[in-house]
Amino acid sequence: MRESQMLKAVMTSDTRYDGLFFYAVKSTGIFCRPSCKSRPPKEENMLFFYTANEAQQAGFRPCKRCRSDLAAYDPAKEAALKIRKFIEDKWTEKMMFVEELRRVGISQRTAAKLFKEAYGLTPNEYINELRIKEVKRLLEETTEKIIDIAYSGGFNSLSAFYRFFKSQTGQAPGAYRKEAQKRKQETKE
Ligand SMILES: [Zn+2]
Repeated sequence: MRESQMLKAVMTSDTRYDGLFFYAVKSTGIFCRPSCKSRPPKEENMLFFYTANEAQQAGFRPCKRCRSDLAAYDPAKEAALKIRKFIEDKWTEKMMFVEELRRVGISQRTAAKLFKEAYGLTPNEYINELRIKEVKRLLEETTEKIIDIAYSGGFNSLSAFYRFFKSQTGQAPGAYRKEAQKRKQETKE
């Protein structure tokens, strides 16, 4: 999940995100569910955790108002969370994902459904989001060859990478890089 997405969930007390993550408030030492009715803290005071346990281990106390320590167990959300964590670790290896689903005994279709209900996009869309973010970063910040960037992004051919990049950004990777460098140059001047 992106931080901007979590931030929005907290700002709107969105109950759909309960159980998916918690936010802690540095100034008070308390952690809450996204739906907590307490006034949302300043953005810079917020820390995000995916489980109540992690928040507690980091030294935060559960909120008395939203009882963030009594997280209701929701198997569907739990499964979606597992899938998300797995994708974030292994997103460059698409085949690994399919194998992992097989191992935990969920079909790809079920996984896609659970995931979409929890996060509003399919696992594939999420993987693509992570991919495009990473390859853009590499194009902008490094001088790595485009073919190497394609491999780091989990593509097994340059043409697959070009097709993907173009469909996501409307540009070829080389053109994107040139523009990004130009922008950088301009801000420096
Ligand atoms: Zn709370």
